Amino acid sequence: MPHASLRKFAQPQLSEESILAVVEVLRSQWIATGPKVSELESALSATFGGRPTRVVTSATGAMEIALLLCGVGPGDEVITSAQSFFSAMNMILKCGARPVFVDCELHTRAIDLAQVEAAITPRTRAIMPTHFPGALGDMDALYALAGKHRLRVIEDAALVQGSLWQGKPVGSFGDIATFSFHPNKNMTTIEGGAIVVNNQEEAEQVDILRFHGIAKLPDQTRDVVLAGGKYNMSDVSAVIGLHQLQQFEDFMTQRAALAQRYFERLPTLPGVVLPPRDVAGQTWNMFCVLITYEQYQYTRASFRAALQEAGIGTGMSYEACHLTSLAKGLGYAEGMFPIAERIGRETVTLPLHVGLTLADIDHVCDVVARLLSQ
Ligand SMILES: *Cc1c(COP(=O)(O)O)cnc(C)c1O
Repeated sequence: MPHASLRKFAQPQLSEESILAVVEVLRSQWIATGPKVSELESALSATFGGRPTRVVTSATGAMEIALLLCGVGPGDEVITSAQSFFSAMNMILKCGARPVFVDCELHTRAIDLAQVEAAITPRTRAIMPTHFPGALGDMDALYALAGKHRLRVIEDAALVQGSLWQGKPVGSFGDIATFSFHPNKNMTTIEGGAIVVNNQEEAEQVDILRFHGIAKLPDQTRDVVLAGGKYNMSDVSAVIGLHQLQQFEDFMTQRAALAQRYFERLPTLPGVVLPPRDVAGQTWNMFCVLITYEQYQYTRASFRAALQEAGIGTGMSYEACHLTSLAKGLGYAEGMFPIAERIGRETVTLPLHVGLTLADIDHVCDVVARLLSQ
């Protein structure tokens, strides 16, 4: 009998201690932003090489704040990958700027830097790449390109908290990075996210942007200096994050073992593309496989339904952004970014979370092998 946890491709693991800590915060009466938020920010900052870190209510909110912090506004362009979650596209548009899509690489899904360079215009303000589990793009080349053209970089690191580039954690170097603590991510605060910035001045700007545009005056009265939003995290969420952070290394070790098992046990079949394997220092939030379903008499929908039938839940990460109605309204169309489109068509996310055992992964691999051998 497969483990019940296989019914979901992702799920959080909350320790009993963290649940008790939530109760304690609730009883303390200080439930909105307070000491736990500050503690979590310090603890996270330590994992990002001491760089200034702020937590907010989602990665999406963090990305909007990052764009505003970089001065992105109407008339500007931000270059981003067509293969990503919808947040980047949406937040760029929400700031009044235009998302300029480019394609990505097939295996790493990293933004195609040659296409980034070709897409740069005098209106370009920033590059917004998305990182995927298994491998990062060439961060040295990305920052060299950004430096050459004086562009800001906002790394969407929602999926790769803990991943390393040449031994350095994502977020500990570079320009701005944003992270997600949604329950499906490497750690959770229920909903939540973080933004890592360059210096104290930027961190203070984030404080203003995330809380009503309020700047405190020396006489303790308040001024509003910009039309800010409200993205502050609650202490209830933050205390969960503090406990998750204590387990973070264990979580990543478990996830890596599960991913390794997929590589060992999944059948090597024509038309099946697995994620990058054996790249040092990578974390495994998701295990996404590409399959040319027609070759096996399936559609993606029928393949996912067959897995569902066998008690195995799957996800889809991600549809190509430029083929959404929103992006088509901006003039994007089918055929423009073939790799993002292929990933969007073929990707299926197999179960990977810390509630699973190696035997669970073996079961998934057996079912996949059986389905693809018929
Ligand atoms: C999950 C995710 C987001 C959004 O995170 P939220 O915290 O839910 O806003 C953004 N980008 C990527 C790549 C993601 O996977």
